Amino acid sequence: MKLLEERILRDGYVKEGNVLKVDSFLNHQIDIELYNEMGREFRRLFPGDTITKILTIEVSGIGIACVAAQYFHVPVVFARKSHSINLDDDVYTARVQSYTHKREYDIIVSRRYLTGEDNVLIIDDFLANGCAVNGLLELVRGAGATVEGVGIAIEKGFQEGGRLLRGSGIRVESLAVVESMDAATGAVTFRRT
Ligand code: 5GP
Repeated sequence: MKLLEERILRDGYVKEGNVLKVDSFLNHQIDIELYNEMGREFRRLFPGDTITKILTIEVSGIGIACVAAQYFHVPVVFARKSHSINLDDDVYTARVQSYTHKREYDIIVSRRYLTGEDNVLIIDDFLANGCAVNGLLELVRGAGATVEGVGIAIEKGFQEGGRLLRGSGIRVESLAVVESMDAATGAVTFRRT
């Protein structure tokens, strides 16, 4: 998506540790018009009418998922991060390794909001090694729901998450795929499809 790529080049910057910072427009201060165009694009990429729910993970996925949901006319469910073991029977749980904070945490979603009847579109801000998306997939499977696909704002294509997910047969659509980035020079390049 050209608009997002241009914005990354203009306002994003690369930090050591393969982290792309997009705080000024995507996940701290938010450009809602950009979110709106992203939502429209997700809808174009997933045009079917079978999706019943959008699933994301707090915090940064929520805004993107909510704006996108206005094009799908379905509810958004967000997985909560829980740092203590949850013994509640009413939730599905999965364990996720945090990319940016290098620690593990559990994510939970209430059984009430994800059921075997649901066809789920997963949406998140970044795809790196795929830990967050895999955790969300585990919740979906736990509920006996069906995965319709995964929509990502920014995929770091040089990390393995996207390749592994697509290799397992999951449809992954990313609005911008970073091919390379360099903290020393600040250079970012994108994959062309
Ligand atoms: P994964 O679980 O795929 O390894 O990493 C994805 C998660 O880590 C996303 O939910 C996102 O919050 C965070 N993340 C991974 N890479 C980046 C990055 O380069 N920049 C930012 N801002 N977040 C990232």
